[in-house]
Order: sequence, then structure tokens, then C-alpha cells
Amino acid sequence: MVAWVNVCKPKSKGGLGLHSIPALIYGFNCALILRFSNLDYPLAAWITAKYGNPWQSPSRLVSPLWKTICTTAEEAKVNFSFVDNAVKWKGLNKYNFSNFMEGFYYSFADCQWANSVWHRKSVLRYSVFGWLALVGGLKTAVELSRRNIQVDLECVFCHNAPESISHLFFYCNFSHSILCNLIPAASSILLRPNIHQLFDWIAECPTYNEQTKCFYYLITCCVIYSVWRERWGSFVLNCGCSVIVLLGCVGLEGISVHLHLLAVVGCSLGLGNLCFGITGWNALLSSLKTFVYNRIHVAAALVGCSLGPGFWLCGLECFCSVS
Ligand SMILES: [Zn+2]
Repeated sequence: MVAWVNVCKPKSKGGLGLHSIPALIYGFNCALILRFSNLDYPLAAWITAKYGNPWQSPSRLVSPLWKTICTTAEEAKVNFSFVDNAVKWKGLNKYNFSNFMEGFYYSFADCQWANSVWHRKSVLRYSVFGWLALVGGLKTAVELSRRNIQVDLECVFCHNAPESISHLFFYCNFSHSILCNLIPAASSILLRPNIHQLFDWIAECPTYNEQTKCFYYLITCCVIYSVWRERWGSFVLNCGCSVIVLLGCVGLEGISVHLHLLAVVGCSLGLGNLCFGITGWNALLSSLKTFVYNRIHVAAALVGCSLGPGFWLCGLECFCSVS
């Protein structure tokens, strides 16, 4: 669903951080050029005696390896500097492979939403699904239909619109309600946001500090992950609603419980987010009313306690409310 060339980009450029084969060859050749230009050993002496330096035009008879080295030397010419009879990479005394990769991807455009997905507190599982949603990599009904795969186009949650990524996240009543439960301030956005607009709204909100923003980015990716799993569950069960919705029985609160647990797991990444964990738990407590919910409550309390000393207070609060 996502072109390999887009996957093989740095995260800051909108990819997954994998290196492409041309990038690896570029890095290998740059390292080789610096080695045989600066180090005094027999192989370097032999290469210099046989081929000269890599910035000279190669003859037609040289090996393919040397031709690729010459091509890389020409492409990366601006990054090499000649200081005191030594060749350096951008004037640095020390360099590593990531420096070469920066040079290779330098001309690629920066991605505006990269910091929203791959922030300091990001969780790989959720961020990958957030990334997939942003680059159009989720197999929604509209995307499958565009590839001539015949599927029911109707949204499995609301049955009111074609199931596209922008509808699922977050024009659909279902996902929008979950989002507003977890980020109540998001309900004040004038129109229902798509993912880009939601990230922009979080980034530009003047009352949020960096930790709050990271937490809301994490929550957004959690919602995308959970809604997508829920959608897949609905698709497989073919009954219009899945186990989690059936558990909720009366609406969206089953999902809300599920997501609050995810939020608390996210909070375990750092005690700096503990206050948000407690806020989440308070919201959870206010939404749990029936015996079924109380049982989930106990499980949630156990999970809270198992996370460590920082969450014992949450766990005790849950047990007290059950009793
Ligand atoms: Zn819908």
C-alpha cells in the first residue's frame, strides 16, 4: 500500500527510517573514500596507484565498483573538505554512518507531521499505525476499491458514508466520539478534524506544554490503532459490531475503557505524565456504572498497580470505587 521509496526515508522526511539500497551504497562508498584517502595501508596505496583519486573521470576499463565510487564522490563532493592534506566529511574530525545518511537524504523535503508521530514518548505499535494512516497505507474499503478489489464501501461503524481514511479518522461519529472522550477539548474544534488537522490543533494550542502535546499525540495514535483493530474485528465478525462494542452494550464506553488502559500504559513511559494518568482514571471512574464495568475496573486497577509505585494510587482509587 505504501511505495518502498516512501518507506525508505528517515522518519523526519516522512518514512519509517529504513535505509534504501542506494543509500547504503552511498554510505559505504563515502566511508571507503575517506578511508583510503586518509589512512596509510597497502590496499589504499594500491588503489591510489591504480585508479588515482575518485574525483577524476574513470576510464571505460575500470571496475564497476570503482565507477560507483566515482559517482558517489561526485554526488557527495560538497560534503568533502580538504584540510591539511586530509579529506574530511563536512570538516568533522569524527563521523559515522548516520552522517553519510544525512548527506544522502539532505535534498529530501522535511515532513511536517513527523514530530507528531515519532515524538519522544511515542510507542512503536501505535506510531506505526498513525504513520500508515497518514501515508494512506491502511486497507480501507475506498483504497481497496481504487485497486479494483470489490468490497462493501460502507463504513462498518456508522453505515452512513464510504469508508475512507479521512472518514474513519475522524469524520465518523464512532471514532469522533472516542476521540472526544479521551481529549475532551477536541470537541471544541469547529469542524470534525482529519488527522493532519488534529495534529496541527495539538501543536498550535498555546495552553499545552510539550509533555501534554506528546501525550495527546500518543492518545491520537492509540485511537487510530484501536479504531482500526475494531474495524478489522467488525469486518471479520461480519456482524456490524465487535466484542468490545458488545461489552459496552450501551455505546462507546467499552472502547473508552480499552483506550484508557492504553493511555495508562503510555503513561508508564515516564512519571512526568502521571497527572494525565490520574485524569484518565478519573474519567474512567465516572464512566463506569454497571457491574460489568466494575469487573473491568478491578482488572484496570490490577494493571495500574502492576505498572509500578507511580500507579499504586490509581489502583487503590479503583479498588475503593468498586467496593
Ligand atoms: Zn463511519
